[in-house]
Amino acid sequence: MSSTSTLGLDHAEWINRAAALNPRTDLYIDGQFRPAASGQRFRKLSPRDGSLLAEIAAAGEHDVDAAVRSARRVFEAGVWSRADPATRRRVLLRFAELIDENTAELALLESLDVGKPIGDTTAVDVPGTARTIRWYAETIDKTYDEIAPTPRHSLALITREPLGVIGAVVPWNYPLLISSWKLGPALATGNSVVLKPAEDSSLSALLLAELATAAGLPDGVFNVVPGLGAVAGAALGRHELVDKIVFTGSPAVGRRFLGYAAESNAKQVALELGGKSPQVVLADAADLDTVASTIAWGINYNAGQTCNAGSLVVADRRIRDDLLERIRLATNGFVMGDPLDPASQVGTMVSTTHRSRVLSYLELAQAEGGHFVSGGGADDTGGGCYVQPTVIEGVQPDSRVAQEEIFGPVLVVLDADDTDDAVEIANGTRYGLAASVWSRDIGTAHRVARQLRAGTVWVNTFDRSDVITPFGGFKDSGSGRDKSLHALDSYTALKTTWIDLS
Ligand code: NAD
Repeated sequence: MSSTSTLGLDHAEWINRAAALNPRTDLYIDGQFRPAASGQRFRKLSPRDGSLLAEIAAAGEHDVDAAVRSARRVFEAGVWSRADPATRRRVLLRFAELIDENTAELALLESLDVGKPIGDTTAVDVPGTARTIRWYAETIDKTYDEIAPTPRHSLALITREPLGVIGAVVPWNYPLLISSWKLGPALATGNSVVLKPAEDSSLSALLLAELATAAGLPDGVFNVVPGLGAVAGAALGRHELVDKIVFTGSPAVGRRFLGYAAESNAKQVALELGGKSPQVVLADAADLDTVASTIAWGINYNAGQTCNAGSLVVADRRIRDDLLERIRLATNGFVMGDPLDPASQVGTMVSTTHRSRVLSYLELAQAEGGHFVSGGGADDTGGGCYVQPTVIEGVQPDSRVAQEEIFGPVLVVLDADDTDDAVEIANGTRYGLAASVWSRDIGTAHRVARQLRAGTVWVNTFDRSDVITPFGGFKDSGSGRDKSLHALDSYTALKTTWIDLS
């Protein structure tokens, strides 16, 4: 009997729906779909079988300019930026509702584009996106501004003003969710947005924009410009009328956006970059079965294509062998398969190019003295772009596979002499996005959590998150913070209005 996903559809039904799908493939500017001015399109192949999924309009400089000008025009007109809080709240709540109502199509687009299991896109990506929009909608009529303690005959108001036009540039690994982390606070605070999705994942963003218009968002407030990073992304980064870039992606491209800002209008730039997130398992960790299965999920969820994937284990030597055996068993238990099969737990790499990159790290691991405890190769079942869940041991902390972000289902296990050694190894990469510590002693766990240089540290768990807490990194993992009420500060500027009452 084939299993079913949360929407009650089985594998065959998802395949039928995929065949009937007719995704939007044009740019979305000023509330309308339109082709690129140049007429150029780029091809998107599905990683689940290599078939042509869509030919998508490739925005050029001219199109990005049109999108930014539309966003600027509507911002200045005030139809959204100065709309009553109750109006903005109502529209965004309806937007969230429409996302929920369109779960099947959004989830399908996401699974076909990225190769994510349909069980995850229906249960996590789409509901998480709706929840984020809804949560920020609810902040609109619940946040207040300030009055300063001035002398008696003055009144000084400190208000938060929207910045203007936000350029949001996002990666392909969580296209909807990461877009919602930018859109939620940006739209709630009255900004206009131009979203540049990644080349590998434009389709869900185009439907999202259409749903926002259907919810009542005025034309031009939310535009989507798919296209090549070096063309469309760079044009957005360099545009003089963009007030802020909010970027999630690789450290190398993030640095480029700092350069674009310096070359143009010194716009603000918030960066959410990569990670090599360590899971520190101390000698007194409780219940190694739970630790091992959490570690295995932490690296194999979304086939390891997660910025905060727990890709490095730093285990105390005293429990290391026991732990490694349990990790091996948990890893071998994953069901890898067609992203449209509700039974699949691990899907594909996003593209053959990305898979080659991940596989090159597996070769490198062997050259660096490592060997595979699990997996270690590709899998072409059904023409899909899979990499087997892989566990590597035997490499040194300074090896490239232990230092660099592989962005696939590849776990590297290192040994530590004791707690201090474990902390030193865990902090020894250029990244600082997330980490975990496993210990029975809450005092030790808390001390280690304070010592770990990471934007999020989990204690005796991994990857627990919600829109209610901030997310972002230290060091090369970036500087911005998505999510929580703190993100509202990122999309507003403080304004002082000093009134003489004498
Ligand atoms: P990427 O940096 O290659 O691309 C990100 C975005 O930048 C895409 O929209 C792309 O089109 C655009 N871009 C690429 N080259 C550009 C250029 N020269 N100028 C302007 N724009 C350009 O990243 P990716 O491969 O899409 O995503 C994977 C990376 O994202 C990983 O490093 C991952 O860790 C990181 N990531 C970080 C977080 C986080 O919150 N910290 C979340 C998810 C992913």
